[in-house]
Order: sequence, then C-alpha cells, then structure tokens
Amino acid sequence: YQAKRDRTGVEVYESKRDSNTPDRLGLLGDLRRALDAREVALHYQPKVRFDGQVAGLEALVRWVHPERGSVPPDEFIAIAESSGLMPHLTEYVLDTALAQVAAWRAQGLFVPVAVNVSPRDVHTPGFAGSVAARLARHGVPAGSLQLEITEHVLLEDPQRAADTLAGLTGHGVKMSLDDFGTGYSSLVHLRRLPVSELKIDRSFVARLAIDAEDAEIVRCTLDLAHSLGLLVVAEGVEDDETWERLRDLGCDAVQGWLVAAAMPADETTDWLRARGAHGWQRHPVAREPE
Ligand code: C2E
Ligand code: MG
Ligand code: MG
Ligand code: MG
Repeated sequence: YQAKRDRTGVEVYESKRDSNTPDRLGLLGDLRRALDAREVALHYQPKVRFDGQVAGLEALVRWVHPERGSVPPDEFIAIAESSGLMPHLTEYVLDTALAQVAAWRAQGLFVPVAVNVSPRDVHTPGFAGSVAARLARHGVPAGSLQLEITEHVLLEDPQRAADTLAGLTGHGVKMSLDDFGTGYSSLVHLRRLPVSELKIDRSFVARLAIDAEDAEIVRCTLDLAHSLGLLVVAEGVEDDETWERLRDLGCDAVQGWLVAAAMPADETTDWLRARGAHGWQRHPVAREPE
C-alpha cells in the first residue's frame, strides 16, 4: 500500500480498489476488531444557515489504524459494504451519535445530528424499526436525527427502498439527499425519495465562483429543490467568495472548512457553546477599543 500525509500531517492509508487483496482482508479484520474495541470515533461537522444559526451537525466516522494511521472513510466503508460488515458499522455509528445527542441535550445543547447511511442499510430488512428502537433506547426524539442517503438507494430494489424510507419518515426521522448532482441524479429519483433536504455535492460547489457552468448547475438545482419545498445545503464551502455566491443564489445552509472541519465530540461541544448565543460569524466583529 501507499501512505501519504493529509492536511494534518497524519499518515493516510490508501489501497488499490480491487476487492479481495490480502491487504483488504487484513483491514476488514482490523476494522471488525476496532469496532468491538470501540476504537472507531465520530467527528462532527456543523451545517450553518446564512444568518449563522447552526442547522445541525453531520457525524463523520474516523478510524486511526494502529500501524497504518488514519484510514479514509471512503476506503473502509467500501470494504464494510462489500463484506457484510456494513450493518454492524451503521449500528455502531447510530448508537455513538445518538448517545452523543442525548449527552448534548442533557447539557442544554439541542442540536440535530445527521448520520450517513449506505444503500446496503436501507435494503437491510427491519432497518426502519431498528432505527426507531435505537431512538427510543437513547431517549432521543426522532426529529433530532437525520439520515443522509444517496440516490444509489434506488438502484437495487426501488420499491423496497421507498418502503423503508417511508417507514423512517413515518417515525419522524428526517431524510437528506447527499452528494446531489453526481452519478444518477434524475427528477424521477427526487420525486420518489421522501427527503426534506438536498445537499449539493462539493464538486459543483468548489468551482462555483470561477466556473459559469458549475454556477448555473447550482442555480438550477436550487430552483428545482426549492420548488419541491426542500432545504438546500452546499457541501465543501472553503472560501468567502463561494459563501457569498451561495447566499446570493438563495442557498439555505452551508457546510465546509470555511465554517469548520469535522471535529471530535469534545471540540464540537466547545464550538457549540461558543456559538450558541450569537451563531457562527464569518468575520467576528472586532470589539471597539475601550
Ligand atoms: P459525505 O457524506 O459527502 O461527507 C462530506 C465529506 O467532505 C467528508 O469527508 C468531509 O470531511 C469532507 N469535507 C467537509 N468539508 C469540506 C471542505 O470544505 N472541503 C473539502 N475538500 N472536504 C470537505 P470524509 O469525512 O472523508 O467522508 C467521506 C465520505 O465517507 C462521506 O461523504 C460519506 O459518504 C462517507 N461517510 C463518512 N462517515 C460515514 C458513516 O458514518 N457512515 C457511512 N455509511 N458513510 C460515511
Ligand atoms: Mg454526508
Ligand atoms: Mg455529501
Ligand atoms: Mg459529497
């Protein structure tokens, strides 16, 4: 395998995409053990509205392998999906996120959390009921949980997926359509999915300020989503200019390094407390000298 360094200087593990290399099998065993040992963590990334109000947090899974360093989620989620470990990983993520939501609520921090679920999960029999049971067990109201899905849920058995999603929204869980604009985007999908939020994929947002076609795609997506009554979140906002363009286009909320990268739970608590009173500010107003 190759190792490279990420932004924080932590070694990042990258393997080839083929499915049954000894490397992949090794990682699968390690992941299974890491879940049992509760060594897989969740970080939380805020979604903020243009008035600075915190709309929610997205839970993003983090795994630091003892020898290989941090393994990117895209990498080990693919392994979990192709091996049957995915339901276990999702249960782990849901339980960890819901326990955290309950802890925040007990401290007076009422913030909804979004959990990413894979198409595999949506096709697991009994998924909606198992989510409802977990909410009850953690004493968290369904309105405090959002599930981020992608259009891939409709590829396999669209009717079964639609039934599961209807079950989830019936319990009061909110659904968000992630990575919109990549792959299989179609109006039919949008109509079939009971989502209340749509997230525009980072690949369109990144070049919004410099590429007229990407700007047009974002504008059309906003029009379409708003005409269907959906809230729109832009992913991967890294600079002021992109933030301003999105605000002027009427986007509802943003997520990205401009606001905050995903943070460990304790840092998130501090972040929430610091912003609780006044909301996130792009350029905190300097205090007048006394
Ligand atoms: P996603 O759900 O679309 O998450 C957004 C990804 O963009 C995250 O990468 C996040 O750290 C990154 N990101 C956020 N802001 C910025 C920014 O301003 N610039 C750039 N360049 N990147 C930004 P991450 O954490 O590596 O996750 C990658 C993907 O892995 C996620 O994409 C999601 O599909 C999947 N994933 C993460 N956690 C889970 C999980 O618990 N369960 C499942 N099923 N999938 C997960
Ligand atoms: Mg997501
Ligand atoms: Mg996304
Ligand atoms: Mg994305």
